[in-house]
Amino acid sequence: MVTDLGPVIRTRPTLAVWKFASCDGCQLTLLDCEDELLGLTERVRIDHFVEMTPAEGADRERARPAGRGPYDLSLVEGSITTAEDAVRIQHVRRISRYLVTIGACATAGGIQALRNFADVDDFLAAVYAQPQYIATLETSTPISAHVPVDFELRGCPIDRRQLLEVINAYLAGRKPQISNHSVCFECKRRGTTCITVAHGTPCLGPVTHAGCGAICPAYGRGCYGCFGPSSKPNLRSMIAQLRHDGMSERDIQRVFRTFNAASPEYAPVPDLAAEEQQSPPA
Ligand code: SF4
Ligand code: SF4
Repeated sequence: MVTDLGPVIRTRPTLAVWKFASCDGCQLTLLDCEDELLGLTERVRIDHFVEMTPAEGADRERARPAGRGPYDLSLVEGSITTAEDAVRIQHVRRISRYLVTIGACATAGGIQALRNFADVDDFLAAVYAQPQYIATLETSTPISAHVPVDFELRGCPIDRRQLLEVINAYLAGRKPQISNHSVCFECKRRGTTCITVAHGTPCLGPVTHAGCGAICPAYGRGCYGCFGPSSKPNLRSMIAQLRHDGMSERDIQRVFRTFNAASPEYAPVPDLAAEEQQSPPA
């Protein structure tokens, strides 16, 4: 990550929001900032945000060519899955002073990165009646695999409070205050009884990045890792605990292959799980 945030932006800064391969959920998080969005638009000029542009009419036409920039802050949603997008992200980087990736797709390749562990042609044949018309890359990769990224905001979808903090931080020329501790910390803060300790429910909270407010454990189900890896996750201990709580080796591998399947932090899971199976702790 780039840590030199540069000087405070003193004129009314411009904001652009970009979509790559994604479901639009993280862009919707910005639109969901109902109480804060009007205030934000008084301080930031949103110059390019197709998601909030009418389908037809002058506003639509005004918004489309605006992709030329330059922009003070670009928020990028989605992963790189086509050759065209691999070129387009280079353009976005060139015209952006700061580039922040938002969501599991943009920061880790997303659900669509499951193709990275299989033959993409098999998926194409299974999904499309005429796969010969589909032009796609063999892998889904995060934005940081293609261009330098100033900050990565995790989540599927992202958390609106964290998003506002990131935007405000870049407008103020400071580093975003986003804690990279685990979901367990949030469980403790909201007073939730640990469902792993109390009931033996498998939970990825100890290795998952905070940001959701520990919603799933609060409702009695284990965290399934939609915010991706926390800082320095102890995967070896996590795998041992999941096995202790009744998960098979296959299930352990699959539980890490969801929203953040292609996270580098999760890459050692199959090997660690196999080691764990061969020599379980005494
Ligand atoms: S991270 Fe999740 S919510 Fe955001 S665009 Fe990707 S799939 Fe949608
Ligand atoms: S329920 Fe899960 S996230 Fe919460 S404290 Fe227990 S292990 Fe951690």
